[in-house]
Parts: sequence; C-alpha cells; structure tokens
Amino acid sequence: MDLNYSVEEQAFRAEVQQFLAEKLPAEMSEAIRVGRELGKDGHDQWHAILNAQGWLAPNWPKEFGGCEWNAVQRHIFEEECCRAHAPRIVPFGLSMLAPVLQKFGSKEQQDHYLPRILSGQDWWCQGYSEPGAGSDLASLKTRAVREADHYVVNGQKTWTTLGQYANWIFCLVRTDPEAKQQSGISFLLIDMATPGIEVRPITLLDGTHEVNEVWFTDVKVPVENLVGEENMGWTYAKYLLTHERTNIAGVGFSRAGLDAVKRMARSQMHRGRPLIDNPHFAARMARAEIDLMAMSTTNLRIISRAAAGQAPGVESSMLKVKGTEIRQEINDLARRAAGAYAMPFASEALEGGNEPEIGPEGSAAVAAQYFNNRKLSIFGGSNEIQKNIIAKVKLGGGA
Ligand SMILES: Cc1cc2nc3c(=O)[nH]c(=O)nc-3n(C[C@H](O)[C@H](O)[C@H](O)COP(=O)(O)OP(=O)(O)OC[C@H]3O[C@@H](n4cnc5c(N)ncnc54)[C@H](O)[C@@H]3O)c2cc1C
Repeated sequence: MDLNYSVEEQAFRAEVQQFLAEKLPAEMSEAIRVGRELGKDGHDQWHAILNAQGWLAPNWPKEFGGCEWNAVQRHIFEEECCRAHAPRIVPFGLSMLAPVLQKFGSKEQQDHYLPRILSGQDWWCQGYSEPGAGSDLASLKTRAVREADHYVVNGQKTWTTLGQYANWIFCLVRTDPEAKQQSGISFLLIDMATPGIEVRPITLLDGTHEVNEVWFTDVKVPVENLVGEENMGWTYAKYLLTHERTNIAGVGFSRAGLDAVKRMARSQMHRGRPLIDNPHFAARMARAEIDLMAMSTTNLRIISRAAAGQAPGVESSMLKVKGTEIRQEINDLARRAAGAYAMPFASEALEGGNEPEIGPEGSAAVAAQYFNNRKLSIFGGSNEIQKNIIAKVKLGGGA
C-alpha cells in the first residue's frame, strides 16, 4: 500500500484548490468558519455551484451524471473543502437515496428522481428513526397498508434532519406486521406535500432547529413510489447505511477545528502567559493532535484499500468511533480555550453585527458547536453500537 499521493492526485488537489479559490463565495466560507447557520438558500447556492462544475456527485457513476471519483479523489476533495471552509453537501438525496435508486430503483424512478437531485429541485430527508426505533431500527412501527394503487401510511418518524426544508422523504415502513422484524419492511418515497403529513420542530441544545418529528396520518402514497420489492426494504436500508458512513472519520473537520483551537490558545492568556504554553492544556492538545494523525493514517490506509477495490469493513466503525471522539475532544478544548467567553449562549453574536466579537476569534460559536456536536456520537449508528460491531468482528461472536 502506498500512502504517498501520485503526481495525478497532486494535480487533482491543485485543481480542487483552484476551484475553491475561484468559486467558493467568501461570505459563505466565512459563515462556515465562524459556525453560522447557512439556511436553505445558502445550501442551495453551494449545491448549484458544484452542479455547474459537474462536481456535485463524487460517488455517482458517470452514466447518471456523477464524477465517478475513486476513494482517493473523494478524500482529497473533502479534505480541501474542509480546509477552505466550504459548506457540507447535504447528503440525503445525493449520497444516501441516490445510490439506492441507482442499484434498486426502477428505470422510471432513476430517470425521474436522479436529475432532480442534481438540479436541486428536490430536497430529500431521511425517515428511518422513530421513537423506540433508533439503534434497534428494525423494530420500527410506521405502518403502510396497501389499498389498490396506493399505500396508506400511519405513524411517526423522528430526528428528521432538515425535514423542514424537504419536499420529499424516503421512509422505512412496515408492510407486513406478521413477518420477522426485518422481513416486513418496505422502502417508500413520499411527497411531503401529501395531505396528512405534519412536520414538528425539535429544538436542539444549541437552540437551532435542525431536526424534526414527521407525523403521518392516513397519507396516501402511490404504489409506484415503492423502491424495489415490497418487504425487501431492510436490504436497501442497509445498503444506504454503508453510504451514510462515508467520510465518517471527519479528518478535515478535526484539522480545521484544531487549527482554530491553536489560534485561540495563542491569544488567550492564562496566569500571564498564552494558554498554549500551559503544560496541561498543551498536553491535551498534543494528545488530540497525535490521535488525529494516527487516525488520519488509518483513514488513508482504508482509502488506499478502497481505491484498490476492497470494501471497508469493520474499519469504518473504528473510524466512526475514533473520529467522533476526536471531534468532541476538540470541541471541549475550544470550550476550555475560550474560557468565560464560551459561557454566554449568544446566538445573535454568530450573525455578525456592528459590534466587534467579544473574546478570542471564533469564541461566539464555541458553546453552540460544543453542544451541537454531542450528536456526532449518536447519529449514523451510535458509538456504543459501533463498539458492539467491532467487538463482534474482532473478538468473535458473543458481543
Ligand atoms: C442530531 C441528530 C440527527 C439525526 N438525523 C436523523 C435523520 O435525519 N433521519 C433518521 O432517520 N434518524 C436521524 N437521527 C437518529 C439517529 O440515527 C438515532 O438517534 C440513533 O440511531 C440512536 O437511536 P436513539 O436516539 O433511538 O437511541 P437509542 O437507540 O434508544 O439508544 C440510547 C442509548 O443506548 C445505547 N444503546 C442502544 N442499544 C444498545 C446496545 N445494543 N448496546 C449498547 N448500547 C446500546 C445507545 O448507544 C445510546 O447511547 C438523528 C439523530 C440525531 C441526534
């Protein structure tokens, strides 16, 4: 395995850097850097810029309008985007649903939905989790009953990220309550404008409206919105989850976060000296940096194997656990570095205004990011569940 970048890969990196320097709007990059919410318009704008460049769908095959980049190219692209503080591409349509439609969808579904995902016409959200069905997803209860040419859906989804912006939701629903849990589930595409759907906001610890409850009362869904076969939804759901866990290590986010902490710790004074010289703080920072370097090497090893055609196995669980632990530790270091300036929860300060920021640069976002990123070890399969997977594979059966 070769962990050095080839000449072609270095040229690709330069091309990405040039694109970002020319096309990423400065105010957008600044908003991401200071931790400001982009809102739907901002996400749509970045989506359109990437689409115009033909770089919106790194993992899609070319026949569907994607880049078909290999794992190394995708890694370079993600790394540079993080470095330049580009917005995260909203993954639900592009990276989650699209691979499922490309593999299991009908020709009509592919022709209809995939171009609309690229153009930004449709904003998708993910309707998997329910109260009581998160880690134990297969126990989901939202019911779909077939009546002639449509299903009637009743139930509730929860934690639906950015569902308030979505005009479509892909849902796991129970179509056969008699069958063994996993065998009675189907995968439905549901228009959010259908009568009987209600989206209720959930406010997170940082005060943002990022997730929702989605309620279904006698919602009529045409049978042509079923993906693949009835009661085979679990197979498609699992396939989707393997795509949900790409870029799981978040190396680029951690690097950007650590740089910000260093800047803060240089300017903040502790007992008359810069905080960065405080032995306890410096040791914690060094440990986070060493962990990040080690994980980044592991990540490259896995990417190198993926580029050679080997699917990542339990390693993606390891990256999820380690990557999120490191990001949360960096959030904690930032909270410590900002000190008292991280105490007030002043979301207005993020909007920028006519007053200069109080405290070291970036401190207005520290508390919000610290609280918001508690989610990292919960979603995408909680860290405890990932540890169970690792134990089962590496230690054998009984975990
Ligand atoms: C911010 C955020 C955004 C989300 N976005 C979406 C979305 O867009 N769409 C969607 O469908 N879902 C979404 N989710 C839901 C997410 O996938 C679930 O929260 C996650 O799967 C955990 O499920 P749960 O919350 O029901 O917790 P539970 O499954 O009830 O777990 C509670 C605790 O028990 C632990 N635990 C559970 N089972 C075991 C076990 N067998 N062994 C050891 N420990 C265990 C868990 O690790 C956790 O710490 C989101 C969640 C969050 C927080």
